[in-house]
Amino acid sequence: MMKFIGAHVSAAGGLENAAIRAHELEATAFALFTKNQRQWRAAPLTEEVITQFKRACEKYNYGPGQILPHDSYLINLGHPVEEALEKSREAFIDEMERCMQLGLTLLNFHPGSHLMQIPEEECLARIAQSINIALDKTEGVTAVIENTAGQGSNLGFRFEHLAAIIDGVEDKSRVGVCIDTCHAFAAGYDLRTEADCENTFAEFDKIVGFQYLRGMHLNDAKSAFGSRVDRHNSLGEGNIGHTPFAWIMRDNRFDGIPLILETTNPDIWAEEIAWLKAQQHEEAAA
Ligand SMILES: [Zn+2]
Ligand SMILES: [Zn+2]
Repeated sequence: MMKFIGAHVSAAGGLENAAIRAHELEATAFALFTKNQRQWRAAPLTEEVITQFKRACEKYNYGPGQILPHDSYLINLGHPVEEALEKSREAFIDEMERCMQLGLTLLNFHPGSHLMQIPEEECLARIAQSINIALDKTEGVTAVIENTAGQGSNLGFRFEHLAAIIDGVEDKSRVGVCIDTCHAFAAGYDLRTEADCENTFAEFDKIVGFQYLRGMHLNDAKSAFGSRVDRHNSLGEGNIGHTPFAWIMRDNRFDGIPLILETTNPDIWAEEIAWLKAQQHEEAAA
């Protein structure tokens, strides 16, 4: 198995441009939004758009296991208010259907927020139920829950939250997680030294399990450790430093899944990707 490394690229001007931009970065993975991430509605995908996207992915050798689409930021699958929950569930099913049409097999999303109106456990149960509904209405796409920084009333900042959601999902073969290093660090999971990485991912394995890991977001943090604030930074330029990114590149538990930069300076993505690739062959620091 090998490492798939890339960035969350723009799909402006056509979804196929995401694959083209990833190729220009010499990436072996990429993430994208399949619609405007700040809007509820989008025009349905046309045959032409689907064909062009599939053609570009084939041309540049991106299989579905190397592509990690992200859903709209508006969706809250744990919404406390019934009507709003319904709207989110419909939008999420639409996102999954778009993935199916594009031949994609993963959909990355933030679990949801209780908005201070319902207890955490109830919100987590709603999220699991939302996933069950979506999985029931679609096929071939895995729901990939992202850990969060725990900003505001966002859940998913504890590995226990991710485990509780998975526990409530009926089809365990179509649920997984994506760990964002910036979010984990801001939520109080240290990653600054190799020992911290060992501890954090041992805890992840115990509580959630590596068998559920479907992707990673590789981001340094502008926010402080345990701050519950979500601010990304370029690799090595934030409060985390280079160590965990080199460590991840040398660990085969992160093979075969999209490893995606959501770092703040797209101008250096090509450099960051090249650096990550090079770390695979480095010896561990003494
Ligand atoms: Zn995200
Ligand atoms: Zn992320």
